[in-house]
Amino acid sequence: MRYFLTDKWNPDKNIIREAVDVLRAGGLVAFPTETVYGLGANGCDDKAVRKIFEAKGRPADNPLILHISNPAEAEDFAHVNSRARSLMDRFFPGALTLVLPAKPIVPCSVTANLKTVAFRMPYHPIPLALIESLGCPIAAPSANRSGRPSPTDAQAVIQDAGANIDIVIDGGICDIGIESTVIDVSGKNAFILRPGGVSRELIEEFLGEKLVTPASEMMKASPGTRYKHYAPRVPVLLWEKMNDKQTFSCNGSYGYMGLSQPDFYCNSPCMEKIIFNSVENYARGIFACFRSMEKIGVSCIIAETPNEHGIGRALKDRLLRAAGL
Ligand code: AMP
Ligand code: MG
Repeated sequence: MRYFLTDKWNPDKNIIREAVDVLRAGGLVAFPTETVYGLGANGCDDKAVRKIFEAKGRPADNPLILHISNPAEAEDFAHVNSRARSLMDRFFPGALTLVLPAKPIVPCSVTANLKTVAFRMPYHPIPLALIESLGCPIAAPSANRSGRPSPTDAQAVIQDAGANIDIVIDGGICDIGIESTVIDVSGKNAFILRPGGVSRELIEEFLGEKLVTPASEMMKASPGTRYKHYAPRVPVLLWEKMNDKQTFSCNGSYGYMGLSQPDFYCNSPCMEKIIFNSVENYARGIFACFRSMEKIGVSCIIAETPNEHGIGRALKDRLLRAAGL
């Protein structure tokens, strides 16, 4: 693995060139985005994309997102309808991923043999420079081992999957810290497959329609939602501030993270307490917090569940999954 540090706002051209050479040769490059760090391969190279699944230990039936550097690129790989086009106009670049009917040119490894393909255009200058210079979309999931918390800094990438990556580009800490919102716009109704960096409220307001909640059958179309995700190596327990009867039991000291001062009974002492001053900062810090608490040796993590509004909805989703609920 080669490691490069560069300024996010002014990525070093030599580093981008070296990384693109690796992508052209079928290798893997990890890079920052505004959501989390991604593990990328040339999205037009089926063999290269397969390496991502190996490097992450990712189930073969969990499709990847194609990262593009301008909305028009999607037209080469998918049938783009008018709803998708207007969502792209409004939310690209940003933390929104659109699922559309795929054209045959998309490698099967990207779609995991589904008939649809997912697109996102990041606003982060590093992936934009990589994609533009490669001249092809970059297929990239989060750069963690499958099931682990997503990496929001380069050290987390290196600890998790460093041995299987050719180049890691360090561009600092991710702005949002939680993955993109995935929305399926391939059919008549639009629906959210995964809450994320762009809130449901914003999308609904823009579309002027309520997003239908998918039946569990439909959720199966997004295989990523089936697996245990985002989990640290110690149990995560969730605290609802409004529930004053909640008590916790932990075999050793616990770590606490949340927006409020902890106000619950636990049979064991608190080893580390991290209080965020906004829900945005909680979202930005959740995965790094999981990793740091794991490292200092807490026996369990007690995390406050945020209100389901704005980014709070995505944060709550990640907490529930980390807790295995
Ligand atoms: P990750 O890149 O690891 O954050 O995961 C990408 C998410 O997008 C996963 O939940 C995938 O299941 C979902 N996804 C990617 N492509 C598709 C697709 N064609 N249809 C439905 N969901 C998709
Ligand atoms: Mg992921």
